[in-house]
Amino acid sequence: MASQRMQAYYDVLHRTPKSISYDGKISEIFGENVFNTDVMREYLPSEAYKSMMASINNGTQLDRKMADQVASAMKDWSLTKGATHYTHWFQPLTGATAEKHDAFFKPVGPGKAIERFDGELLVQQEPDASSFPNGGIRNTFEARGYTAWDPSSPAFVVDKTLCIPTVFIAYTGEALDYKMPLLKALDAVNEAAVDVCQYFDKNVTKTVATLGWEQEYFLVDKALFNARPDLMMTGRTLFGHASAKGQQLDDHYFGSITARVTAFMREFETESIRLGIPVTTRHNEVAPNQFECAPIFEECNLANDHNLLLMDIMEKVARKHDFRILFHEKPFAGVNGSGKHNNWSLSTNTGVNLLAPGKNPKSNLQFLTFFVNTIKAIHDNADLLRAAIAGAGNDHRLGANEAPPAIISAFIGSQLTDLLDKIEKNVKAGKMTPEEKTELKLNIGKIPQILLDNTDRNRTSPFAFTGNKFEFRAVGSSANCSSAMIVLNTIMARQLKEFKVSVDSRIGSGDSKDEAILKELQKLIKESKKIRFEGNGYGEEWVKEAEQRGLSNLKDTPRALQIWANKDVQDLFEEMNVLTPRELVARQDIEFENYVHKIQIEARVIGDMIQNFIIPAAVQYQNKLIKNITGLMAVLGDKAGKEASRSQVEIVASISEHMNKMKALSDEMLASRKKANKLEGNESKAIAYCDSVKVYFDEIRYNVDKLELLIDDEEWRLPKFREMLFTR
Ligand code: ADP
Ligand code: MG
Repeated sequence: MASQRMQAYYDVLHRTPKSISYDGKISEIFGENVFNTDVMREYLPSEAYKSMMASINNGTQLDRKMADQVASAMKDWSLTKGATHYTHWFQPLTGATAEKHDAFFKPVGPGKAIERFDGELLVQQEPDASSFPNGGIRNTFEARGYTAWDPSSPAFVVDKTLCIPTVFIAYTGEALDYKMPLLKALDAVNEAAVDVCQYFDKNVTKTVATLGWEQEYFLVDKALFNARPDLMMTGRTLFGHASAKGQQLDDHYFGSITARVTAFMREFETESIRLGIPVTTRHNEVAPNQFECAPIFEECNLANDHNLLLMDIMEKVARKHDFRILFHEKPFAGVNGSGKHNNWSLSTNTGVNLLAPGKNPKSNLQFLTFFVNTIKAIHDNADLLRAAIAGAGNDHRLGANEAPPAIISAFIGSQLTDLLDKIEKNVKAGKMTPEEKTELKLNIGKIPQILLDNTDRNRTSPFAFTGNKFEFRAVGSSANCSSAMIVLNTIMARQLKEFKVSVDSRIGSGDSKDEAILKELQKLIKESKKIRFEGNGYGEEWVKEAEQRGLSNLKDTPRALQIWANKDVQDLFEEMNVLTPRELVARQDIEFENYVHKIQIEARVIGDMIQNFIIPAAVQYQNKLIKNITGLMAVLGDKAGKEASRSQVEIVASISEHMNKMKALSDEMLASRKKANKLEGNESKAIAYCDSVKVYFDEIRYNVDKLELLIDDEEWRLPKFREMLFTR
């Protein structure tokens, strides 16, 4: 009987592209499964429509009567889409989205039923969600978590279910999810940015943070996936010798996409389009079988909901096409891992992108203000940004075999570097002469709308300015973008608030507005200089230079997470009204625990695979060789037999050597795990798992991968890299 691996490989060779369900125009189906403003206008009485708009745009609360009308409209509309159930869709701190489905169906008297859904069910629910992580917040109160409707993100229908985006909070109102603090951070940055915009344009009454994510992923055939316990249990391969060919020829990057993959892409894109997710970009990535998909940017909260929804859809559609999708940051050692670039900016109700250079000196001064304040915020809070992207999976990318490094720095390009240098040098401390001011204004006015560096920008920077937005490139592919966006928008809010206070006080002491702004910018430029780095962020020299500059380089998740306990960090989040110290500590604890669980599961799977897959294959092949050796001896006699079986004997010995090393290391690792498990508290456990369990992984793997090379291909039970990465 063929091994599972051989059978899987055979299955893959016989796959054909699946047909896809829709072949028409994209524009005709865009947003058709979304309860969007057009649908609302059609289904809602005008008064309810108006309150709903106010709620979406200004966050005002809907009263109960209006909520009933909205609920009823949602239900009627969703019934036309075939919905039978509804769910509050939320983002617990597990990283995935959660939903609990209830039927609209309600019996009313004998043999009779109606479709029921009212404001009460829309606005708040109490899912039996006691198993979601809460970091101790819920234990102290005998209460469950609640989900509460977020009207700013539209409801949608998926799989015959009306999904209502909600926040997830404890009885006490404390956040148990990603959405709640994100909404608060977005409020904070809106308020702060509007205040600063007033220096330049009194018509600005609202600003929104925008997010354009780029999602990277791998595809693996489902048969091969199912034959790899490590992929199934951990989302990444824990063993596997690199194939002879990897990504060195760069022949996958932007290459043509095979018919089977194209069919998958078209199908998930169509589904996304129906849900109003504006996906536009698709291409092959650097590693074999790695791809990327990106939408047009949107308001941050909506963009994030869309990212989570898309990941969910991709997962489902991949299965339909006999693929499994890997969102893990590092599924295969030796080839690139996956990230999720977060492109971020701020825009105003007057249609201005605050991080895009403008047409005249005044709008350019506004651009510079937001630009320099962002750099200062990054400078002051680099460790927080690092903590926001920490996770067991991302540790394989950050500062490990692959960049961007764990050192946070910002790239801005040569033109803006020149300009910041000029401001740094030429703004005078005292009163400036009219000539000096004109000279500066001329320079500021000269910022071109299209920046040169945009075309050949630095792709090794974790935080790069790309012409009209910043691109936070260090976010992991499996992450909820909120984690990064909560931090970025919160630190930006505080920075802008401080900027406003300083500028106002300069104006108070007699400076003109422009002068006050320029002087303050000069100060920020000086203070944040060390975070700017234009060179190769992947190089060894940068690690040394960054150390000299005093930048931190937190290489692992437990160390990165420690910052959440700092008093000044807790003050910052409390002042910006984003998270209370209790909420922060709860989150930190959950993240430590997540880390422990991830490494623990990986360690267990390593143990199992060694015992059940690697050793049996090694022994079986050894026996084959031994039979051959003894046979040769018997036929040829001792002397000639020994000569004839020299290679076989060598292999038998090598197999034993690697097996023994591997087994001994795995036993030691088990002992370390037992010790770590006995420690008190998730933080010490996380550190122990990082420093004394995970450290065995590479060495064990080295021996396993050697065995893979030694053992007969037919005996090897785990699909190999060449099969997983090159068949599709
Ligand atoms: P790449 O980084 O792959 O070269 P692009 O530079 O073309 O890609 O753009 C990347 C992403 O930036 C896109 O998803 C786009 O939607 C997003 N983006 C563009 N402008 C903004 C903006 N003002 N705010 C947020 N995201 C933006
Ligand atoms: Mg990018």
